Amino acid sequence: ELVNLNELVASVAEQFGPLAELEGHMLRVAMAEELKLTGDRERLYQLLVILLDNAVKYTPPPGHILITGAKQGGHILVTVEDSGQGIPPEDLPRVFDRFYRGDKARSREKGGTGLGLAIAKWIVEKHGGKIGVESTVGAGTKFSILLPVKWIKRNSF
Ligand code: ATP
Repeated sequence: ELVNLNELVASVAEQFGPLAELEGHMLRVAMAEELKLTGDRERLYQLLVILLDNAVKYTPPPGHILITGAKQGGHILVTVEDSGQGIPPEDLPRVFDRFYRGDKARSREKGGTGLGLAIAKWIVEKHGGKIGVESTVGAGTKFSILLPVKWIKRNSF
């Protein structure tokens, strides 16, 4: 399936815009150019929803949330960045683990199972891509996703 990433990001941003605004955040999208890739549209949509949902949940208002997309060789680099609470360095290697939730997430009872990022990683890997995270406590978090433009589908979801 050929997926237009600009359209996909625009529709996720449209879905989250009102919520982000209500929470007092600024949501911005910056796509370098027209980006298309072969992939599973619904799964890629779910991936963006997970990352945006987290960005909104773990950013004290008023915050900034930025989604970017750009070509990088035969790949597309998508980033989701927030100006939120950040993730302590000792927790960073575990955020993609199933059921892992940060201390603050657990104590705050914000709701959630700790499955979001494990699912996000699974979706990215099913597309032959990679997901990484950089974060600074008190400053923000940036998720980077590298997806091949041409996806060779090996097995179904
Ligand atoms: P659910 O996925 O059900 O919403 P969750 O948000 O706790 O629950 P994940 O999405 O897997 O689970 O995230 C794991 C943990 O990583 C979170 O509990 C939180 O501590 C941390 N985390 C994830 N995204 C961010 C972010 N943007 N900023 C700060 N911490 C984050």
